[in-house]
Order: sequence, then structure tokens, then C-alpha cells
Amino acid sequence: MTAPLDLLDLDPSLTDEERQIRDVVRQLVDDRVRPHAADWYEDGRVPARELAREFGKLGLLGMHLTGYGCAGASAVAYGLACQELEAGDSGVRSLVSVQGSLAMYAIWRYGSEEQKQRWLPSMAIGEAIGCFGLTEPDHGSDPASMATRARRDGDDWVLTGGKMWITNAPIADVAVIWARTDEGVRGFAVPMDTPGVMAREIRRKMSLRASVTGEIVLDDVRLPADAQLPEAVGLKAPLSCLTEARYGIVWGAVGAARDCLETTLAYATTRTQFGRPLAGFQLTQAKLADMTVELVKGQLLALHLGRLADARRLRPEQVSVGKLNNVREALAIARQCRTILGANGVSGEYPVMRHANNLESVLTYEGTSEIHQLVIGQRLTGVSAFA
Ligand code: FAD
Repeated sequence: MTAPLDLLDLDPSLTDEERQIRDVVRQLVDDRVRPHAADWYEDGRVPARELAREFGKLGLLGMHLTGYGCAGASAVAYGLACQELEAGDSGVRSLVSVQGSLAMYAIWRYGSEEQKQRWLPSMAIGEAIGCFGLTEPDHGSDPASMATRARRDGDDWVLTGGKMWITNAPIADVAVIWARTDEGVRGFAVPMDTPGVMAREIRRKMSLRASVTGEIVLDDVRLPADAQLPEAVGLKAPLSCLTEARYGIVWGAVGAARDCLETTLAYATTRTQFGRPLAGFQLTQAKLADMTVELVKGQLLALHLGRLADARRLRPEQVSVGKLNNVREALAIARQCRTILGANGVSGEYPVMRHANNLESVLTYEGTSEIHQLVIGQRLTGVSAFA
């Protein structure tokens, strides 16, 4: 975090390598994302393939995975990268999260050696783009009820159904598709040029506009037996991928909040009303103080979860604590910052409302706040409220 927002002196608790990775990604975001983010958002278009190649060059795609051209970085380093990317734009961080933590992780963790060799090296350099199809038009928070089916036909599999709200789908080369089979939920690495696969872009999003989102239609898609991810058995496989991606969001959301606060601090110290800077009003200082307290708490939480992840001790409900808190607080910070910017707060000339709008999606995807409350509630009470 940059001074003076690093109220708790968290910076020295990072290793030199972690700081180095963070600084490299921060520079990349300053050069390559920040100058264009408002236009990408306004146009609803982002040069995702170009960005993926640039991120791939820096080793950011699947950076916490090992082998197959992946960087093998620590969980904390990956988190710091997510923070910097989302300080640029949540859509850009989503590109990296979906590629690395959802699509690549699913293949890396559950795929055959052949599937890993086929997909991971080209995904790590951003030449191949992946997406992750779990959500369906009628089944979002409750993926156990998914309608997409995979049935055996001789040695082949035949997939029928549809996925909705799938990040990167319209530009993807491969989709990890989750489908119901006679033996339960299974995952498939589906090349997007397979006959019967159609991807349509979802337009008119008011949030995450610098991210490509689509619908996938699967119309009797015939796949060879070796398209199935052999180690993925049951719903716990896709849920474990979500835990990976949610971890990145714990950090990313703090990045968006930090960018809002940095913008707002600069604005409040230069904008004058009633003969003094906005920052000189006690009410403004109370807002800034409360927001910064939440920011550093979120930062501490992310770092703690990162250290747990690096010690292989991070549990899914702990990630739920982080996702629930950090996205909720980041959104509150973005909205509060907007008030301090007054009318300029609604302008695309400043990043604040863009972050706030983006965080509405971040609040919903990768488990809504309510779902994370239920995960934590189940851990506390021993009673599942899902069934
Ligand atoms: P619903 O499940 O219909 O929920 C609606 C509301 O009801 C929510 O507030 C929810 O919390 C609440 N609710 C539901 N069940 C309960 C309950 N038991 N108790 C209390 N409240 C409940 N999905 C993918 O698979 N891959 C992607 O790449 C992907 N990218 C996305 C990108 C964007 C921009 C967006 C917006 C979504 C994306 N999603 C993706 C989908 C996302 O994960 C789902 O939207 C999310 O899981 C919620 O599902 P839903 O929208 O169907 O809402």
C-alpha cells in the first residue's frame, strides 16, 4: 500500500520478493491499464487477448501454480498482484483470475498429464484463453441443481445444456465445463471450436464493462473420452476452484478500494469549498478515517489468509470471511468516496464510480455475500442452511 494509506506499516512485513512482484505489477497497471480503463469501461470493450499476452510475459497467468510454464509464486505474491490489477480495474483482475485460478487451476489440479501438456503452457503465456462454466441461466448460487448433462455414447461424451455469465467465454479457446453425469458432477476441458459449442457475448452490463462475459450453448457437443478431467469427482472439484479464485478477490477488492481512497484523498486536499479544502472539514476527515481503518483491516485480513495459504492451512470458510468482508467493505468505501467527489464522483474522469459499479459484480460472483454468510454460519452452528 502506498503512504499515507499504509497506516499500520504493513509494507515491511512483506518479503523483498513480494514487494518486487507488487511493484512490477503496479508499474504494468500504471502503464498499460490505468490510461485506458475509463475508455474500455465506457466502450464496453477491452483488448483482452493483447492484455493476456502481456500478463503472460510477466508470468501473471496461473502464477501461483507450479510447472507447465507457471511461475510458482507464493499465495501472498499472487494476492499482491491481484490487488494491483484490481486497483486498475476489476475487469482486468477478472481476466487474470478466471484464466489462472479457475480455468488453469481446474486443469492443473484435476486434469490428465496430456490435458496439462496440451493447455497449460499456452495458457500461461496468454496464447490460449480459458473460461470456467459453472453458472447456468436457472442455477447460480445452487450449482448442485445444474441442468447441463454429459452422457456416455460409446467411448465419447455428449454434452447438452448451457452456461451463463461466463467470464472470457466469447474469446476463449477452452472452456472448463461442469456437467451432471450418471455418476455425479464431472468436469470437461472443451475446446471452444468443437461443433455444437456456441458462445455469445452478454452486452448491456452496467458493471465490469472492461471484461468480456458470455453465454455458452452446448448443443449435443461430442467429446472424446479424454476430454473429461479424470481427477474431478463431484461438486467439490468446481468448489475447490472457486476457493482459489475467491482468495484472489479477497486481495483484489482491497486494490479497488485503495484506488478510490487515493483518488479521494488527492481530491479532498485540493478541492476548496467555504474557503478551505474539503479535507479540512471534520465530517470529511471522519469519512476518510473510517474508510482507511476498513482498508487496512481488509489488507491485514488478506495478508493473514495469504500466509495461511502459503502454509497450506487455508480453509474455504476462512476465504469466505475474506471475500464477504473485503468486497462488502470495498463497495462501501467506493460509494463513500463518491460522495466526497461530489458531482465529479459520477464522472468517468475519476475511477471511483467505475470501481463501485465493478464491485457490484464482484459482490455477486464467486459466491454472493449471502452464500458466504451461510458458509460461515454452517461452520459456526454445524447446521447447513443450504439444503
Ligand atoms: P441467484 O443464485 O439467483 O441469487 C439471487 C439472490 O438470491 C442473491 O442475492 C443470492 O445471494 C440470494 N440467494 C440465493 N440462494 C440463497 C440462499 N440459500 N439463502 C439466501 N439467499 C440466497 N459464473 C461462472 O460459472 N463462471 C464465470 O466466469 C462467471 N463470471 C461472472 C461474471 C459476471 C460479471 C457476473 C455478474 C457473474 C459471473 N458468474 C460466473 C456468475 C456468478 O457466479 C453468479 O451470478 C452467482 O453465483 C449468483 O448466481 P445468480 O446470479 O444466479 O443469483
